[in-house]
Amino acid sequence: MTLQKQWDVLSLLKITTDHFIGKQMDEARLQVEYLLAHTLQLNRMDLYLNFDRPVTPNELDHFRDLCKRKLQGEPLQYILGSEQFLGLKFKTDSRALIPRPETEVLIELVFEALKERENQARRVLDIGTGTGCIAISMANLFKTSDVVAVDVSEQALALAKENALEIGVENQVEFHCCDALNDAFHERFFQGFDVIISNPPYIPIREKDELQVEIKAYEPEIALFVEEGFEFYRKIASDANKMLNSGGLLAFEIHCEGKDDIEEILNRKAFSNINFHKDYSGLYRVVIAEK
Ligand code: GLN
Repeated sequence: MTLQKQWDVLSLLKITTDHFIGKQMDEARLQVEYLLAHTLQLNRMDLYLNFDRPVTPNELDHFRDLCKRKLQGEPLQYILGSEQFLGLKFKTDSRALIPRPETEVLIELVFEALKERENQARRVLDIGTGTGCIAISMANLFKTSDVVAVDVSEQALALAKENALEIGVENQVEFHCCDALNDAFHERFFQGFDVIISNPPYIPIREKDELQVEIKAYEPEIALFVEEGFEFYRKIASDANKMLNSGGLLAFEIHCEGKDDIEEILNRKAFSNINFHKDYSGLYRVVIAEK
């Protein structure tokens, strides 16, 4: 007879954390807590109230699978299947980019800018919607707004629609599959937008090797990389000129080294009040300009 070791929450947390540390995993304990809590369908903090809880052989198998995926480099948000963004829970998987805190800064600044002008965002366009985090957050913040969200990826759009339904803004957001780089893009929608927001792909493909495995091997390339860096900014700035109401806002997330080029692009298209803002790491990451 073979005696199987009976695991409980605390013993499993300890041994797995040691294993993760041995594999040079950042924030090993935290990652293990998330994976175990997900396996046991508990909140992470509830693990602390359940240290003695036995872990069944089935749960153990499931947990080991998740740990293996994490050790191979898969992002935690894809393994857990969700990420919080501005207090909302977004489903995340390999169909779209994981929502990031920098993008929360973008929305917060747009919100502030609109508040200052006592302006309501009646019609909003989100270009390259991915999970839908921008479009859905705008719909949630401006309850009377109509939001148009576009993406070139049908897969990303399917995920964004699931998120809109789950969060309960499906009546406010309309989704379209189209390529913003296409010449006819601006003709496809009615004009008269109050706000156009985009977090377009902005990493030049030559920088790919410098990125972490979590990003370059798992997140969709189409959401991250461009040939040169400013393709989308030039095209969107030019289209936004035609699609925005006078006084409307154009807001972008940008590459941390893109400030000067983007300022020139926006100046050339005669945008005014061009303001750059930094993210939590002190890097220029957001620009808001007015038509
Ligand atoms: N709009 C989405 C986000 O901000 C996706 C952006 C993208 O795919 N480049 O996360």
